[in-house]
Amino acid sequence: MTTGMAAVVSARGAHRIARGHPWVFRSDVTTRPDAPAGVLAVRDGHGRPLGWALWSPRSEIALRLLDRDPRADIGRAWWRTRIGAALARRVAVARDTTAYRVVHGEADGCPSLICDRYDRWLVVQLLSAGLEACRADIISALADATEPLGILARHDVATRRKEGLGDVVEVLAGTVPTEIEVLEHGVRYLAAPWDGQKTGAFLDQRENRVLAGQLARGRALDCFSYHGSFALHLARRAEHVTALDSSPAALVRAEANAALNGATNITWIEEDAFTYLKAAERRRERFSIVVLDPPAFAKTRASAGSALRGYNEINLRGMRLLEPGGVLLTASCSHHVSKAAFLDMLAGAAADSGRRVALRRVLGQATDHPELLTVPETGYLKGALVEALD
Ligand code: SAH
Repeated sequence: MTTGMAAVVSARGAHRIARGHPWVFRSDVTTRPDAPAGVLAVRDGHGRPLGWALWSPRSEIALRLLDRDPRADIGRAWWRTRIGAALARRVAVARDTTAYRVVHGEADGCPSLICDRYDRWLVVQLLSAGLEACRADIISALADATEPLGILARHDVATRRKEGLGDVVEVLAGTVPTEIEVLEHGVRYLAAPWDGQKTGAFLDQRENRVLAGQLARGRALDCFSYHGSFALHLARRAEHVTALDSSPAALVRAEANAALNGATNITWIEEDAFTYLKAAERRRERFSIVVLDPPAFAKTRASAGSALRGYNEINLRGMRLLEPGGVLLTASCSHHVSKAAFLDMLAGAAADSGRRVALRRVLGQATDHPELLTVPETGYLKGALVEALD
């Protein structure tokens, strides 16, 4: 998919690349090639080659650097090598689970490509016009590397629209069922690749679920439980788990998942978490462990302030519900709420709760979702484990 044309970038664009960030914004492309979306050579203002990049003519992110080597040949073999390297980084993860992220975009050197594996099936997202032009090479490289029974594109995402791309969900190879049973550190659950959240499940919280499972005892509470993945880990050690979600469809799958695991100590409640937490506080309920894994409250930068108030409210109430020595595992997946802002919010919530609360661990996304220090956009999930001391 390479063309003979080149894009020329400004000194600022070249500096950004040199500092390890693959994106060049439209305003930093000084000579825009008259080429369709695809792979292009990139040069600086002095004509020096900077490598090869994905070119998205309609996007604010005009270029995404693929390879600094001007001699690289970006074809099926190149993608096979990149995907193979990403897979090699998942060997340890794959020992404990059959559901994990194979490619985490920029962090795996494959800008705007997401690929999640659910047992023998893959779910992909090609999130830029430049990448879309490489579709055939990428899909055959993925098929070579993983030999899946089917590959599904979950293209029903807003980012594709910004690139001028369609938003269909479609099979790209083989066949893909509506539910796939997967194993996560001894817990079985059904992922829903066609219509579940994200690509079918929240893989990014896997290691935090394992941690919650290890700490579980007594009475446990899982708010925003979706199809019950935290609750199922908690249920292995806790006496009883209360799990709530506002989505009836999520809870139907949650009950099926409980049955798959023979878990009979979980009560599922369809309710708004804010309402439940307030009422539980009034009833003076106490839990040994509380999990708060809400959806992104801040969908835009402008809503970060009100989002933080929402996080503060659920966290201060979660803290009040802890028995002495009890722990709260709390998270935010909002891109627009930084790790620092999240920890600051937690300190405020601890002060508001009137409890003495210790920070035990700062948490992030699972290791198959690597967060590149030079590309902050690759990290979005932040969390903490805190303990009520008395
Ligand atoms: N903990 C889950 C993922 C949670 S995603 C896991 O590890 O798999 C967030 C969930 O919160 C979704 O299932 C959504 O239905 C639910 N939700 C959103 N707003 C809510 C609210 N106000 N009260 C309760 N649940 C809510």
